[in-house]
Formats: sequence, C-alpha cells, structure tokens
Amino acid sequence: MVKLAEWRGKELFRTYGIPLPTGQVARSPAEAEATVTSGRVPLPCVVKAQVLAGGRGKGGAVRFATTAAEARAAAEAILALEFKGEKVREVLLEGKVAIARELYVSLTLDRSARLPVLITSARGGVEIEAVDDAEIDRQWVDPFPGLTAYARRHAAKVLGLAGPTARALDDLLAKLWTIFQAEDAELVEINPLAVVGDGLVALDAKVIIEDDAAFRHPQYAAIQDDRTPLEEIAREKEIAFVQLDGNIGVIANGAGLTMATLDVLKEFGGSPGVFLDLGGTDDPKKVTEAFLLMAQAHPKAVFLNIFGGVTRCDTVAKGLVEAMGQVPASERFPLVARIRGNNEALGIEILRAAGIASVPDLKASAQAVVAAAEGRP
Ligand code: ADP
Ligand code: MG
Repeated sequence: MVKLAEWRGKELFRTYGIPLPTGQVARSPAEAEATVTSGRVPLPCVVKAQVLAGGRGKGGAVRFATTAAEARAAAEAILALEFKGEKVREVLLEGKVAIARELYVSLTLDRSARLPVLITSARGGVEIEAVDDAEIDRQWVDPFPGLTAYARRHAAKVLGLAGPTARALDDLLAKLWTIFQAEDAELVEINPLAVVGDGLVALDAKVIIEDDAAFRHPQYAAIQDDRTPLEEIAREKEIAFVQLDGNIGVIANGAGLTMATLDVLKEFGGSPGVFLDLGGTDDPKKVTEAFLLMAQAHPKAVFLNIFGGVTRCDTVAKGLVEAMGQVPASERFPLVARIRGNNEALGIEILRAAGIASVPDLKASAQAVVAAAEGRP
C-alpha cells in the first residue's frame, strides 16, 4: 500500500487540474520562513505536518501564521512533534483560504459491493468521523460508464451546491474519477473540499495507491515515507513484514492467523514488535530468509504460530532450523513454536531434533512466549 503524504497527493492533484491553494514543502524552520519571504507562499498561511496519520487539525499539527516569523515558529514547533508515533520531517506551507463551507468527497473501493464508491457529505472537516451516517451519501460507480454526469449532479445536490459552484464540483469530480482510475488508487479523498467564493479548493489530500498495481506506476516505488529500513528490504523480497512498537516477534501464516496471534499475545500482556506473514509458501529457503529478517529486528522472544496448509509444517520447520543455525549465538532469542496441520508430526520431529519444542496449546504457547520476552522461565 503506497500512502502518499498530503503534499504528494496535492502534487498529483495539481497535474490533473484540481484547484488547490498555493503551497510549498519545507524541511526546516529556515526553509519554512523562506517559502514566505520569497513570496512562494502567500500570507496569511497554514503550516501543516506531513505525516500519514489523520486528525492533524485536532491534534495541533496544523497551525496558522500571519507573518514569516510566525510561519517559522509554527514550522519549528511542528517539526519537533512526534505525531501519533510518526516523527514530523516535513511541513507543507500554503496560503490560507477564506472557507465558506467544508465538504467531504472521496472515491474508494467498496470490496463487498466489488465497485468503486463515491462518498460525499456536506459536513466535511475535522469532525467527519462523528458525522451521522444519514448525512453521508454513497453512490456506487459502474466502472464502464464511469462516474456519470448524473452521479456528479446528484453529488452537487447532496452537497447543496448550485450555479458556478455546482459546475466546479462537476469538473472536480470528473477529474477525481480520472485520477482514481489512471493512478490505480484505492482511495482519493478530499477533506475538506472548501467552498471559497463561488469556487472550490481542495485543502487536504489523501491518496492511497493499490500495491498490486505498483508495477504500472514506478514513480511511486521511490516513496518510502511509511516504511522502516527492514520493511523496505522485506518489500523487495516480497515478504509481508511489519514493525510495531513491542518486543515479541511473530511469525504466522495467513492474515487471519497472524492478526489473531497478535491479539492473543496482547491478551496475555505481551507486546508484538514485528510480525511476518509467511503466507502460502512451500519453499524452506523463503522461510529462512523471512526468519533472518526478523532476527535483524532483535526481538526479545519469537512466537512461531503456523497452521499448515499450502505451507506445510515440515517446510516451516526446515526453514526455521536452517535460519537458527545462521543467527550468531550472541543474537539468539527464545523461540516458542506452535505448529499444527499438514505434516505436523514431521515438522515437530524436525524442530525437536534441533532442540525446539512445539507447544500445541495456543494459550500455553502464548503465555510461554510472553514470559520469555520478560526474561521469566
Ligand atoms: P487533518 O485532516 O489531518 O485534520 P486538514 O488538512 O484537513 O488536516 O486540515 C485541518 C483543517 O485545517 C481543515 O479542516 C481546515 O479547516 C483547515 N485548513 C487546512 N488547510 C487550510 C488552508 N489552506 N486554508 C485554510 N484553512 C485550512
Ligand atoms: Mg483533512
């Protein structure tokens, strides 16, 4: 999933002709000040943290400034923030517009309907999460005719727009649909879409590009805003690997079992630090590779929770034993294995021969790994 920072989303919007405030990115307070003194960003202006998490407006990560010195101070304060666990490295400065109303529009995929859906609300802005469902309009889009003129007019009506503003919306939605399709987006969201005079201006941009289409858009490959160095290596090796804040490594297979394993560890007071989804592989080398990557994250203990199907228990056991042999003694960590399913007996035997016990009970195995991570027996 390639999530674009606001400024990248806006750059994309700009190439398609979506109306935006004049803006510029800065990476230091001095740079921020210079965007204003050079006239590239008009005053008064807005200074916004470029993080992937939402809720910046309510969280103090969007500030206003009326002078270059204020813009500098705002940038300094925001660049010192760690917003919802993300260090702020960039700020976007842009002209402050006179907002008459804040609307919400987005195009996303509704997986259960298997269709794109246009979502609009006249109650856009920072409180969107609290808006009553009755005030949110959804129009499913048949991809063949695409977002029709009728659907765009319906949206204008829902949003209470008429005359030139309705025409501006019509144009904007047609462009948003083009972006959604051409960029293989999973989400394009504008919240708020501001009514300014009788026109519209996109004040925020959230764009997520579909991973499976990434090969069609090599320009996004270089964007690593949201990946750790290990996650970057994992991506290159096509390993599903995610780093979290805790200290327990989790290796499981399939998204469902992986998520359930994280939940079970939490339930027993553990804190998952990195997880790896082996998915369906029948190659012990792939398991070894994935395991060695996990070792580099230096977990305090590792929980291997496998349900053998396509990924057979003996494949995992072989790969694991091979990997353990390659981890230097000083970097070893306690390992608790629970392997069930296809070729279970064979897998358990391979592990046993290497001195690794398999604990068949989920609760007992989770408790054992939590204890190991805390240095208890
Ligand atoms: P977030 O969604 O993370 O809270 P937004 O980009 O939506 O961040 O900004 C939050 C609020 O700040 C917006 O709802 C809007 O009221 C205000 N805002 C953002 N950009 C501008 C701008 N260029 N001019 C005026 N107000 C703005
Ligand atoms: Mg927003």
